[in-house]
Amino acid sequence: MMTMMNEDEHSLFAASDSDGWIPCPARVWMCKKADEKYGPEPPSSAAIEGTRVHMVASYLMKSHPMEEWGPAILALDESDEVKNALSMYLDTVAHYKRQLSGIMHVELRCVSCIDADFGGTPDVVVQSIDFNTVVIIDFKYGSGKEVSPASYQLQSYALLHLQDYFNSVEISPNNCPEKIILVVVQPRHHSHPKVKRIIKEPANGWYEMYLRKVKNAIMDARARPDDCVPGPHCEWCRGAFICGRGKKVAVELMDHSECETLSDVEFILQHENFIKSIIYKARGAAKELIKGGAKIDGYEVRSVLGRRKWAPNTELVEETLERLFGEDMWDKKLISPTQALKRIGAGKGCEVSQLIVREMGEEKLVGINDQKEVLAAAKTPLTPSEEKVVEELACQKN
Ligand code: SF4
Repeated sequence: MMTMMNEDEHSLFAASDSDGWIPCPARVWMCKKADEKYGPEPPSSAAIEGTRVHMVASYLMKSHPMEEWGPAILALDESDEVKNALSMYLDTVAHYKRQLSGIMHVELRCVSCIDADFGGTPDVVVQSIDFNTVVIIDFKYGSGKEVSPASYQLQSYALLHLQDYFNSVEISPNNCPEKIILVVVQPRHHSHPKVKRIIKEPANGWYEMYLRKVKNAIMDARARPDDCVPGPHCEWCRGAFICGRGKKVAVELMDHSECETLSDVEFILQHENFIKSIIYKARGAAKELIKGGAKIDGYEVRSVLGRRKWAPNTELVEETLERLFGEDMWDKKLISPTQALKRIGAGKGCEVSQLIVREMGEEKLVGINDQKEVLAAAKTPLTPSEEKVVEELACQKN
């Protein structure tokens, strides 16, 4: 039976972490033990900012009619980056809502009927009135890992929403939606929403297949709670120091730390994120410890001043500036190349691109899987398709 949950409750088999516990079911226990041992992970400043931007988005969607979302975003006292991200997200929602003349659910939390510990909260679901098409939209504000619309996370949201709608695990071929569309809006990684369609259900059997995958993972976690399965999904896993993988890697890192041979260097670079995750964990822990009264040499916790901005009393600010500077209170300047490309749209900025120069910077090491770094470091003239990617990257950077 599907149940509604409090927004703050977190499921053991959280849909948002499906890409971790489906390949390594024991991870749920390792992370739980890590929480018990080290205390709950303090949210990073990026996570706090992400949550805040999500809250602004859901407030706008819930409190304004769709036609007013655009002006409401413009009126926000937020940075251009936040406004652009919100525009991309809400434009995407509005696009599907218009296309389907459909019903929109914002942050509808649900728990599965296959296991009460499996649950999640899709950011937005838009569904046609006849439930023939369902669109799952996930908004990622942060610049962390790029998420694919084909990820288990998005598929888990779809599964949960279907079960929620039918209030049952049994979804018959006659009532399953024909089209399920998974969409990720991640403005810091791409300038357009990424879309994956799982079409013609039940013909391609996605529902049955994915349900089996989730059931098996949950069953494995309960039957073999210590059987960890290492792999690329271990990156950033909080349970790494409980399952033993973390210690094993840490010892190997020490063996390679002199960076004397090629294989030393390769090993260290391959575990770059792992090393960063330890530092990240230590910084979070240090903050809490210092706040609790501990002393750590060379570190303290301080409130950092935010960027300068004018006080909310706009009239008084304008009056004062006018008196002091007259017309010079306004600062008129050329828009940046990035802003120009963004206004024109990715792939259409040839005329403007010809007017942009890029100076060669100093040599730096780039990861070949990091498209942004590779293109930024290109030494030869870019091909038209690379140029298009550069434009897209420039647009998202803005
Ligand atoms: S570090 Fe890897 S193997 Fe260990 S619990 Fe996490 S996901 Fe599983």
